[in-house]
Amino acid sequence: MRRLLNSLVLFGTGLILISCNSSYPKIDLHVHLTRSLGNTATDAFKKASELSKQMGVTFGIAEELDNSNKRINDSLLLDRIALAKKNSFYIGIQVSRRDWSNVYSKEVLNQLDFILADALIFPNKEGKIMQIWISDQPLGDPQVFMDLYVAHSLRVLSEPITIWANPTFLPVELAPQYDELWTDARMKSLIDAAVKNNVAIEINSRYKVPHAKFIKMAKAAGAHFTFGSNQHGIGIGDIYWSISMAKKCGLRRDDFFIPKRQLSLN
Ligand SMILES: [Zn+2]
Repeated sequence: MRRLLNSLVLFGTGLILISCNSSYPKIDLHVHLTRSLGNTATDAFKKASELSKQMGVTFGIAEELDNSNKRINDSLLLDRIALAKKNSFYIGIQVSRRDWSNVYSKEVLNQLDFILADALIFPNKEGKIMQIWISDQPLGDPQVFMDLYVAHSLRVLSEPITIWANPTFLPVELAPQYDELWTDARMKSLIDAAVKNNVAIEINSRYKVPHAKFIKMAKAAGAHFTFGSNQHGIGIGDIYWSISMAKKCGLRRDDFFIPKRQLSLN
């Protein structure tokens, strides 16, 4: 009863029903399927479909293919697109290599619901490749690192992608300095690039990024958002931190990117 009362708000001359959580699209657009869900892709999709229904969260599967052969990638993706349609999922790819558009054909890419990319792999000042979610990388001076990170993120944001994943993530060594390193100027340059290129900004439950100040700045600039668990197998669909951040930052349903394709009901 108390819950019901909380959802009824007197507004002006009438009574309006407000349902805070359900107003957001309960969609996890950063789901990775693994063998822990099933030995074959068909089994993994089926198991994920059961989880999705139990949780009441729609899944967007982010396929990660590391093959350079276009024919093999196309064939694998077409297979996954069919499975996604059968199980009422959205389907996309997560791209890490910067020549990704050369390893799939346009016709197959056009059938995807989203293309997701993060900016967590780039060279340091000496040219050594860093994978910044792994600890003990040769990060160098924090300010130099940040300038390289922002420049790399701008490059990623200029590509024809749909979602910027793990935005503003910092390596564990630098995470305590998040507010100091993510200056207004750095945040603004990335937000402006995302808005200009129509790239949605993921609110990521796994790494708990971006922080509220960034989300509010991005909303004010007209950005769109998605929810992402970035989980592999266990934990997929856990977007609860993301939803609570959306609420905290005053986001509305129309601030979110939702893929256009209509999912079949089953
Ligand atoms: Zn991912």
